[in-house]
Amino acid sequence: MAQVRFHSGEQLPLEMHKVRIVQKLTLLPIEERLRAIAEAGNNTFLLQNADVFLDMLTDSGVNAMSDRMQSAMLQADDAYAGSATFTRLAGKLAELFGTRYFLPAHQGRACENILAETYVKPGDVVPMNYHFTTTKTHITKRGGRVEELIADKGLLPVSEDPFKGDLDTDKLVALVEEVGADRIPFVRMEAGTNLIGGQPISLANMRAVREVCTRYGLKLVLDASLLQDNLHFIRTREEGYADTPIRDITAEIAALYDAIYFSGRKLGFGRGGGIITNDQQMYEAMRGFVPLYEGFLTYGGMSVREMEALVVGLDETMDPDVISQGPMFIDYMARELAAHDVPVILPPGGLGVHVDASRFVDHLPQTEYPSGSLASALYLVSGVRGMERGTLSEEREPDGTERLADMELVRLAMPRRVFTLSQVKYAIDRVCWLYENRELVGGLRFVEEPEILRFFYGRLEPIGDWQDRLVARFREDFGDSL
Ligand SMILES: *Cc1c(COP(=O)(O)O)cnc(C)c1O
Repeated sequence: MAQVRFHSGEQLPLEMHKVRIVQKLTLLPIEERLRAIAEAGNNTFLLQNADVFLDMLTDSGVNAMSDRMQSAMLQADDAYAGSATFTRLAGKLAELFGTRYFLPAHQGRACENILAETYVKPGDVVPMNYHFTTTKTHITKRGGRVEELIADKGLLPVSEDPFKGDLDTDKLVALVEEVGADRIPFVRMEAGTNLIGGQPISLANMRAVREVCTRYGLKLVLDASLLQDNLHFIRTREEGYADTPIRDITAEIAALYDAIYFSGRKLGFGRGGGIITNDQQMYEAMRGFVPLYEGFLTYGGMSVREMEALVVGLDETMDPDVISQGPMFIDYMARELAAHDVPVILPPGGLGVHVDASRFVDHLPQTEYPSGSLASALYLVSGVRGMERGTLSEEREPDGTERLADMELVRLAMPRRVFTLSQVKYAIDRVCWLYENRELVGGLRFVEEPEILRFFYGRLEPIGDWQDRLVARFREDFGDSL
């Protein structure tokens, strides 16, 4: 987004695109929202989208496509093998990342499945800056263990540090010395760390991690699902990169890794995913799993139409106006909330605004799922659907006790180029109202708790009648407004 100063002195993110296709939204009255959230077991994943006003659950597969992406979809080459669409996508990845080999997969977690299946054995340890839900599950299911080596600053809710996604290289060295390099199949770096507020990694830190990996002969893998935000932050926050083209930053990053995988539902604003590498051995070791789990080597479970959209979407990712839209809207929303004393993660990252539930509803113990309660309450008072990113998103310890999350967050994702500023202002207004009435928000308990990835489809109920009291307070304050 171009740097435009408003004469009024207001600081507003200005859209560098116009809207030409729209989708109608509905906003239900709060009584119907109460029914909807109860039917969804107080799990925002289980809400019907028709009952949602602003869907801020995720930025996965819900970003707006450009006119160029949509028109590219029409030239898709439907062939089981050897599709020209594959050649175009592989060519674009090679152009941007300098990688020779491309293994297509239907989405990001499928890449994690292939990586874990190929490399993780029982007793192995996979060091990373921070885990992602599906990543960790794929590794632990194969008897491996995840070690999070995030720099201490990464877990501070409020800080001025521009790169809270950095990995602590001293911790990495200590871990390698302790467990031995042969127990470490690869080190994983996650750009734009999803679970701790979409915080970026600096290029300086990526280089330092590479150095340690080279010293000990370790493979280094990048999860590039949220790379577009990370690219924006390197350009705007890291010294010396303000005038570096995004293409050059991308190439510099790519050269540091043995393999890179991504979710095309985020990177490239489409759907799909894949693994890219220059390492022929890695390519050959993983290749067999693509036809087994995904589809033939030239589509890997993706629709050729989505692949064509990705070719253009990846190219548009190199445009600062395109990749700055999300972070600038997020920055606006987070800073407005902070100005009203609402606790949010600062500095704002990519992906979305992260409300700090541990401070928002500090009267709730982690065992009553403060983030889940807050996500349920926010939907109730606004029709805005956020996502729980706290203890509910963890899995229980083998002995059945709760693993309490490091951070209790409600993520309000900002799908790229989807919402207008007035919609964002509505969301801010309702979050602020809820904050003023936060003492009414109570806890949740499980009614149905699945063993694996429980946050996706577990069902919960409110402890006590707090939701009815919240509805009554809303009516007192807003009258018959929606
Ligand atoms: C979304 C995401 C994934 C998984 O990608 P899917 O396409 O949803 O399977 C992996 N890593 C990170 C960092 C993500 O944000």
